[in-house]
Amino acid sequence: MPPEPTLRLRVDTAALASNWLALDAASGAADAGAAIKADCYGLGVDMCLPALRDAGARRFFVAHWSEVPAALRHIAPEQLAVLHGPVRGEDAEYALSTGVIPVINSLDQARRWAKAGGGTCHLMIDTGINRLGVAPADLSDPAIKALKVDILMSHLANADEDSPMNARQLSAFRDCLPAVPHRMASLANSAGIALGTDYAFDLTRPGLALYGGVPRGELAGKIAQVAMLDAAIIQTRDLKPGDAVGYNGEFTAQKPMRVGTVSLGYADGFLRSRGPGAALYHGDIALPLLGKVSMDMVVADLTGAPKLGEGDWLCVPYNLADAAQQTTLSQYELLTVLGRRMRG
Ligand SMILES: *Cc1c(COP(=O)(O)O)cnc(C)c1O
Repeated sequence: MPPEPTLRLRVDTAALASNWLALDAASGAADAGAAIKADCYGLGVDMCLPALRDAGARRFFVAHWSEVPAALRHIAPEQLAVLHGPVRGEDAEYALSTGVIPVINSLDQARRWAKAGGGTCHLMIDTGINRLGVAPADLSDPAIKALKVDILMSHLANADEDSPMNARQLSAFRDCLPAVPHRMASLANSAGIALGTDYAFDLTRPGLALYGGVPRGELAGKIAQVAMLDAAIIQTRDLKPGDAVGYNGEFTAQKPMRVGTVSLGYADGFLRSRGPGAALYHGDIALPLLGKVSMDMVVADLTGAPKLGEGDWLCVPYNLADAAQQTTLSQYELLTVLGRRMRG
């Protein structure tokens, strides 16, 4: 076994469970499911999925067929849906052989699913996001009529803002419900839950907010931080006036100063766009970053905590709403870029 890493991601599974419970409660009479795509938004399926399941989640969503095996280590196949649907014949075969439920997104996918043998599926209707989904006008097509639909769903394009699009999509979705027999209707993602229970129907599909993201103000205070990031100092040094730090010498010391090289870089998902103006923390003490973020290292100004040395841990701020505001990255990107190296 290699020694303890100098970089660690801690997933607060109690916070994850409490976020699911808060989103389930905010969904009113509807059940909350859970989007677990992209390896639970970068935090790790094996860490997150058992916590969500044990909190009470019953319906789970991944994007790719390649994400199925990891999820099936923890849940039953009929609890899992694949959002991209059967894009090729072999996807439909794989759904049938595993028992995982495909989301049908087009007339072609509906025909492909029927041709492979079909059975229970979910159906995505496009009410305005124009990515995936069957057009409302096509719901009377025989290929759709032939489907056995469990969850009839659509996806909101603008739920994180106050846009007239939200009410338009809600109304378009409602208009579609009588056209397709189904067991459950589902429209809201995390931000959609915050729009109110009109948007909740039978099942909500939160993702981001489970993992600590706050897409709308209404959810502030209800959602706890889940991803905690720490990185160790691997070397300290004393700079003289005129010494430059890192690639291209973007920071030059004006006075003598003590700095620490920290085991965290863009390969870990700490992108260069997070560098300028950002800081790492020792307790409440901010230690500003100096110069460019490298692949495996950043350099922090230790003026505020001069006693720190090799092996001491610094906290990487990962309050998603704050970090998104300070950078050009979205809360979704801040989570999903986290590198594998973090998880030891
Ligand atoms: C990713 C996704 C979700 C979850 O969205 P969040 O904004 O992360 O809550 C829900 N539904 C579909 C179809 C998705 O692709």
